[in-house]
Amino acid sequence: MGKIIDGKALSQIVKDEVKAEVQELETRYGRKPCLAVIIVGENPASQVYVRNKVKAAAYTGMESRLVELPADTSEEALLQQITALNNDPLTDGILVQLPLPPHIDEEKVIDTISHGKDVDGFHPLNVAGLWQGKDCIVPCTPAGIMRMLDSIGIELKGKKAVVVGRSNIVGKPVAKLLLDRNATVTIAHSRTQDLGEVCRSADVLVVAVGKARLVKGDMIKPGAVVIDVGMNRDEEGKLCGDVDFASAEPVSSWITPVPGGVGPMTIAMLMKNTIACFLSHQKDY
Ligand code: NDP
Repeated sequence: MGKIIDGKALSQIVKDEVKAEVQELETRYGRKPCLAVIIVGENPASQVYVRNKVKAAAYTGMESRLVELPADTSEEALLQQITALNNDPLTDGILVQLPLPPHIDEEKVIDTISHGKDVDGFHPLNVAGLWQGKDCIVPCTPAGIMRMLDSIGIELKGKKAVVVGRSNIVGKPVAKLLLDRNATVTIAHSRTQDLGEVCRSADVLVVAVGKARLVKGDMIKPGAVVIDVGMNRDEEGKLCGDVDFASAEPVSSWITPVPGGVGPMTIAMLMKNTIACFLSHQKDY
């Protein structure tokens, strides 16, 4: 029977760590870190994510600024807003909630955020830093996954890790982080042949695909650790992961639930990244 990696409980621990750090930083530097969150338009899912991010920031005691822009905001106006925040010494982190309306070029937006304020870790300089093994801001979801693996005390060195999905925000960065910990990493994707066989080779299986319950128990090696990144709605509108929890849980040694797994960790690591950005701007650090 798989033991549950409780993302909700672990995220609470991380947020409490951040809360203590915020207090220390305020004592040392005379101000709290500040996260600016920009949302363009009224995508209901994005509104929920943004609300949760601002709520988490408030919990940790850091400052936050919510910038809500109408859906018809021009690309130029958004870039100007980002530039103003880049130049604001009291703003430490900038997050632009994705997806953006189709008339706005996401890549341009990501490139415009100063890489030292890029709390999402999506800026090309942070991506390059990750792949070159330099100190940089690591995307929140992959960072949260690593923290979850550390929480169960697994030694990754020499383990076979399979990451299903190769997106820039989850699959690729988490594969690199696993590689950095000396796991032997395979990345699977939509053109992978015999996904079941590839998955069954994994001691650690990370699934970030966006397909409800794609990975079933018979695709999992007995005793594997399973991290389910997916956030999907099934036919009945119920929130579910990319892994079929009912059949996977009895086979795995550890497994993350959906909801209450990777999702809350992503937000907690965003708070950590805001602290890292704040510190990178302090002259004596
Ligand atoms: P993307 O859509 O960007 O990438 C999906 C990846 O899955 C692609 O690489 C694609 O392959 C691969 N894929 C699609 N279908 C299959 C298949 N049948 N077999 C194998 N691989 C397949 O998704 P994201 O990485 O952004 O997100 C993945 C999931 O994670 C989503 O459900 C998303 O909502 C969730 N998510 C959750 C977060 C959280 O905090 N919990 C944060 C971010 C995402 P190819 O490259 O060949 O097209």
